[in-house]
Amino acid sequence: MGQNDLISLKGVGPSLETKLNNLDIYNQTDLLFHLPSRYEDRTAIKKIGTLESDSEAQVEGEILLSSIAFRGRRMLVVQISDGTGIMALRFFTFNKYQKDALKKGLMVRCFGKTRKTTAGIEMIHPNYEILDPKKRHALPKTLTPVYPTTQGLSQGKLRSLITQVLKDRLDNLEDLLPTSIASELNLGSLNESLKETHSPKKESLAIDELSPAKKRLVTEELIANQIGMRQIKRASKKHSAMQLTQHEMKERFISMLPFELTESQKKVSSEITFDIALNQPMMRLLQGDVGSGKTVVAGLAMAIAVDSGFQSVLMAPTELLAEQHKQNLDRWFGPLGVKTGLLKSKLKVPEKRVLKESIANGDCQIIIGTHALFQESIDYNNLSLVIVDEQHRFGVEQRFSLINKAKRGGIVPHQLIMTATPIPRTLAMTAYGDLDNSIISELPSGRGEIATLCLSEDKREEVVEKALREIKKGRQVYWVCPLIEESEDHNRESAEATFKKLSKNLSGHRIGLVHGKLSADKKNKAMSEFKEHKLDLLVATTVIEVGVDVPNASMMVIENTERLGLSQLHQLRGRIGRGEHESFCIMLYKNPLGQTAKQRLEVIRSSRDGFFISEKDLELRGPGEVLGIRQKGVVGLKIADISRDAYLIPKINKVCDQFEYEFPEESEKLVRRWIGKQINYRNV
Ligand code: ADP
Ligand code: MG
Repeated sequence: MGQNDLISLKGVGPSLETKLNNLDIYNQTDLLFHLPSRYEDRTAIKKIGTLESDSEAQVEGEILLSSIAFRGRRMLVVQISDGTGIMALRFFTFNKYQKDALKKGLMVRCFGKTRKTTAGIEMIHPNYEILDPKKRHALPKTLTPVYPTTQGLSQGKLRSLITQVLKDRLDNLEDLLPTSIASELNLGSLNESLKETHSPKKESLAIDELSPAKKRLVTEELIANQIGMRQIKRASKKHSAMQLTQHEMKERFISMLPFELTESQKKVSSEITFDIALNQPMMRLLQGDVGSGKTVVAGLAMAIAVDSGFQSVLMAPTELLAEQHKQNLDRWFGPLGVKTGLLKSKLKVPEKRVLKESIANGDCQIIIGTHALFQESIDYNNLSLVIVDEQHRFGVEQRFSLINKAKRGGIVPHQLIMTATPIPRTLAMTAYGDLDNSIISELPSGRGEIATLCLSEDKREEVVEKALREIKKGRQVYWVCPLIEESEDHNRESAEATFKKLSKNLSGHRIGLVHGKLSADKKNKAMSEFKEHKLDLLVATTVIEVGVDVPNASMMVIENTERLGLSQLHQLRGRIGRGEHESFCIMLYKNPLGQTAKQRLEVIRSSRDGFFISEKDLELRGPGEVLGIRQKGVVGLKIADISRDAYLIPKINKVCDQFEYEFPEESEKLVRRWIGKQINYRNV
């Protein structure tokens, strides 16, 4: 039994060990690096009379009444008073023991989130403790950590284990950062840093800037992330790839395009051309604002692959986009005699069999489908290039699984990940550090201007009239009712209500509706009708966010603008201004607007530069919004916060070279300590 083993901790048996393993905790050191996701302030008792709604608070009071009530459902209601006011504690699940313990006349201390109702202030399922009048119940002097946990493992248990390890093991913990780096970056000691992070003083949270202690851990994590990404990159370059070197078809492809490529398109295309001619796999991120013409660039790469005798895959996030790609590619590749195939979920069994056969025998050279469809096993003839479109939800792990699926006899396809959300450099380095980066920095010329107006909701009638004028000119209009609540039902309702209203206001014109609750078929149908100008106006939720190309659409109305991230608004707006007509984007907001909301609307109103907008978005909202995902876990960081800590990243990048080179063993250990278990990069 090793000293660092979990099982040698007091109170840990095999079943608890398994639960800890589920959290990626395999030894005592891992426990030290299991960091709180947030804190609770239990250092003080608040008076009930001073409580505000929707805040976390700790109060003490005497139980006045404890009873079971039926209000729609059975619940335990306990009323307490501290002389300044009365508060209710409400429990929807409770056992007999709990009910008996919360007896009238006893003193109770509880911690929870307050809620104001018409009946007064209450807490639902607070943490509580019955106070023994004969004992002193001291308050903690530091903040109480809340840890990420798993089913059947309580916060209390985790806290006590971590406290134990902090006491017993901290002094044996190996400091992996060389002192030269620690002093160059002005970092506190690792031990102090861990102690403070697990139980910080209240004041230390109030400081916006990083304390030296916190900076220490943040820096370690960012270094580990950087080096981990580099390792992944190097590992993936160790594979072999097909050398794609034939350019004749590409030249014909270019000569047949109805437009000139932009300078940016030429530049990124030559970067890609260079990469895929090598015998190691390309791993490249292609960033280009909405409408910058990424699809053509993808087409050029595929032309080289086909010409060299190999297959390519193009993955889109939705069926609709996959179909759009299919149409475009057929238009471009049809005349060149290249066969493309669309893997649709709706294919009939025999159709699917025929398609799969032609993929297996190499007849079909370009295969298009959704990410979901490529989950199935497909037998390729000689896949050499994988292009992932519009994917800002594609993590490192998914990239691996893709490689692993396509790997054959040590040969891996070249990979191009295309994203329409420009990603601030610091964020790209953290989330996509394993990829090389190409950027399309200009839009094709000849696009109409987009005038963006931010209007209060009560101007809606004028907006409807404006829409009518556009429709009468033969243009089309998007009317977007974005996600305003987590519930998809609620969103459908709001889209449906708008659809009804507009159908009345604009009777005689053709109005369509799409939302997430429609079947894929119906969604597709409405979108295709809009594309073919069989509809004048399309009411939609944000399902239209990505990729759809309808150059005749010249107006977009977006409701509830104040609730959306800037990058998302920018994406939506990118659906218009694709033809030569002047376009209008009208952003409706609900009054009153807060300070940040005003700032954000000003950014989007005044700029069409996706990079500028995403930098601002990162500043004002955080990385999850920019990458288009809600949860923090995307980037996989425990303590570093890309928006707050961005300024550290360039410095850290420099230090990493030296660290990896001079201290290979320590840098390897640091990566394992922080991310080794999350990313199994050895399997790349
Ligand atoms: P995105 O980068 O958003 O995926 P698309 O590839 O859908 O953009 O291109 C948007 C539109 O611009 C398409 O209709 C495409 O044919 C057109 N396009 C692409 N490149 C050029 C160019 N160099 N000049 C003019 N139009 C172009
Ligand atoms: Mg696109």
